[in-house]
Amino acid sequence: MRLFAATIATETNTFSPMPTSLDGYKQGVFLRPGEHPADTPLMCTAPLWVARRRAKAEGFTLIEGSCFAASPAGTTNRKDYEFMRDEILGQLKATMPVDGILFGLHGAMVAHGYDDVEGDILERARAIVGPKCVIGVELDPHCHLTEKRVKLADITILYKEFPHTDVVERAEEVLTLVLRTIRGEIKPVSSVYDCRQISSYPTTLPLMRAFVDKCSAMEGKDGVLSVSIGHCFPYADVPELGGRILVIMDRDKAKGDALVTKIGQEFVSMRGKTMPPYLGVDEAITAGLAFNQSPVVMADPADNAGGGAPSDNTSILRQLIERKVEQAAVGPIWDPIAVRLSFDAGLDAEFPLRFGGKIGPRSGQPVDAMVKVTALKRDCWQSFGPTRVPLGDCAAIRIGGVEVVLISNRTQALGLELFRNLGIEPTARKLVIVKSTNHFMAAFGPIAKKVIYVDSDGPISRDHRKVPYTRVLRPIWPLDEHTEPRLIV
Ligand SMILES: [Zn+2]
Repeated sequence: MRLFAATIATETNTFSPMPTSLDGYKQGVFLRPGEHPADTPLMCTAPLWVARRRAKAEGFTLIEGSCFAASPAGTTNRKDYEFMRDEILGQLKATMPVDGILFGLHGAMVAHGYDDVEGDILERARAIVGPKCVIGVELDPHCHLTEKRVKLADITILYKEFPHTDVVERAEEVLTLVLRTIRGEIKPVSSVYDCRQISSYPTTLPLMRAFVDKCSAMEGKDGVLSVSIGHCFPYADVPELGGRILVIMDRDKAKGDALVTKIGQEFVSMRGKTMPPYLGVDEAITAGLAFNQSPVVMADPADNAGGGAPSDNTSILRQLIERKVEQAAVGPIWDPIAVRLSFDAGLDAEFPLRFGGKIGPRSGQPVDAMVKVTALKRDCWQSFGPTRVPLGDCAAIRIGGVEVVLISNRTQALGLELFRNLGIEPTARKLVIVKSTNHFMAAFGPIAKKVIYVDSDGPISRDHRKVPYTRVLRPIWPLDEHTEPRLIV
């Protein structure tokens, strides 16, 4: 038995002021066959990594293709997407025949001329391998679960957790179901219910936690092979954006249709109840300072690099400085030029620095301040579960009682090392401000005495009615009050 595995992935914010080119992939994951590290999966490469570990014991040969993944940002340019796609498809053609394919995708990648990149690559792969080859796909729940891609793949599985702590488990399931299908033990049929809604669904909150647990408990019984909850990625102007449920049933399509409809209707009934409450910037700082234990962790999701934002909005930082707050740490601010200037000034230097507030209109104004350089580190990193996320060269600076971590490689706040590697101990600070929507909870949740979600004026607004969509299919909640949720596959 022969399986082929490859990755092409990013999360495209089509409203982002930062286009994505091959350089973005080279900064992220850009690996040719055989180059994938052995110790840990990287961004969206878990299917390949898992298959490599299981190949010998389960009696198949793994043919590794290339892996390309970039941090979330703007639309990928057409030429670069086609170059990466054609490289992977060329590898597939050269290795034919194969019994199965494992694709580690993200699911919300958009390239110029391609609203549905994943649908495009699956269509071309299917044309090469024919109808009998079993195609398995792992996606992020922040994806566009289009009809086209679900119909072209045999097995599509989304991560269930947000923060995404189950990437490896879901990849194991993709591989297991692909192998079982090839061996003729199961015959997967997919059903999709379109909930016609846009929202955010952290699984750290009780209602969504219970919903995910209930869906997980259905798997492996009564012919239910898999249940996936598509959250949607709200910051893309593509027609098929929105929350969708996918059920994969063994053989019985009618049963799958009935189950997906039931689960989908429950998801619709959860509208407006799955997002945490948000406070304004001033109000949030006041609430954080008033809380009698520390640290209070404050999230700035509207400037989350993980959603394609620049991560250089200064509105919370300015308020902290103006209010002369003590014992506050902010990170990360993406500003490679300010990092360079801090290195040039040197450790312990005090010098006037302009930083942040650069990339787009929603970045706000830069901060001009006399800063003290408290730490400098080349090739810094933070962890996210088992993976190491590179931060590039980093500097920590202090303005009064406010410390700021400046990074060169744009990413969201994920691990405590973001601060610790620069000499800032987050548990010893009163306020820790992190630019992230909810992934920060995996590491910062356990140390936080309180978590406050802030609604700043950053570019990825929490109120989805403010996102300037022009191409999203309507009606859809909360843009429209009356919607028509329905079975679509
Ligand atoms: Zn995601």
